[in-house]
Amino acid sequence: MSLPPLVEPAAELTVDEVRRYSRHLIIPDVGMAGQKRLKNAKVLCVGAGGLGSPALMYLAAAGVGTLGIIDFDVVDESNLQRQIIHGQSDVGRPKAESAAATVREINPLVDVVIHNTALTTENVMEIFSGYDLIVDGTDNFATRYMVNDAAVLLGKPYVWGSIYRFDGQASVFWAEHGPCYRCLYPEPPPPGMVPSCAEGGVLGVLCASIGSIQVNEAIKLLTGIGDPLVGRLMIYDALEMKYRDVKVRKDPECVLCGKNPTVTELLEDYEAFCGTISDEAAEAASGSTITAQELKAMQDGGEDIFLIDVREQNEYEIVSIPGATLIPKGEFLNGSALEKLPQDKRIVLHCKSGARSAEALAIVKNAGFSDAVHVGGGVLSWVKTVDPSLPSY
Ligand SMILES: [Zn+2]
Repeated sequence: MSLPPLVEPAAELTVDEVRRYSRHLIIPDVGMAGQKRLKNAKVLCVGAGGLGSPALMYLAAAGVGTLGIIDFDVVDESNLQRQIIHGQSDVGRPKAESAAATVREINPLVDVVIHNTALTTENVMEIFSGYDLIVDGTDNFATRYMVNDAAVLLGKPYVWGSIYRFDGQASVFWAEHGPCYRCLYPEPPPPGMVPSCAEGGVLGVLCASIGSIQVNEAIKLLTGIGDPLVGRLMIYDALEMKYRDVKVRKDPECVLCGKNPTVTELLEDYEAFCGTISDEAAEAASGSTITAQELKAMQDGGEDIFLIDVREQNEYEIVSIPGATLIPKGEFLNGSALEKLPQDKRIVLHCKSGARSAEALAIVKNAGFSDAVHVGGGVLSWVKTVDPSLPSY
């Protein structure tokens, strides 16, 4: 399938631009017309993180005239392993600003628009409407569904990518010409089933593999060349070093882009739609959540507790709360953890941020440990409020 170019060409290129983009201009398929289209293009990158870093850098170098960057976060040391648009001296700086500085350094001809804010249901329609194309580099399901819904409602194409450990995926969703993200994934995964990169890790260079596919597709859409990744899902396995693509069909029953859509405006609450934790976990945690400082006081007061870390071995080795026994969440899910629990001590569970431990708490309480509790905010909160000398991750 070939599609018409997304943007009209700019009137002309300056002498500086001709010099800068000469290696594009001599490719027959791009040429002067294609480069002028890139100059006229307005592209928004959602997230200046793992995927946003290479995406923004190559979009800038390619000569995309207007580049929007939206990110509410600040640069953390643990980002630098893969988020190559930021450097050591950017730690603590808003990501949108740090990314904008790198873009300007790569190509001062780019008009950079900084959105140093979270993308929300209140601002997404207005922000998206100022751009021709969206590049989605988000790392959570709530934002992904919101990006998809806004793009479909506005009739805009977007290039999606996702990364986890050694595996990456990418596609172009454009309801006018093919499926949307909801056609591929009608329902978000059950809460706690799909770990985030923060929980599961990601090989840094994987971001470049997937981010560059996203830029490649963005350039093709903007200039109208090649066979776009519409209706196809690209799947990359870095360990096997294999790319394969599978057909994704438009779902006629899709609630958003199907024949009889029931979702005709943005959802009120995407976090609730994706459920950060399950109903059972939320119920178990209600009234049975302690703070990291309360845990410290229990330990200092000599209370008879059994502290369980439900994260994975690798995470435990990075940082752990003194006195914690590692029993990963999977052992609670398959039931094997229960026989390891003492009957005569109070069970205290924790994980990284409190989501996984709430899921485990529901299982433990169901098994009859009615006074069990979990630590809200997990080990991150312990590092922040009890022992800042420990590393965070
Ligand atoms: Zn759809």
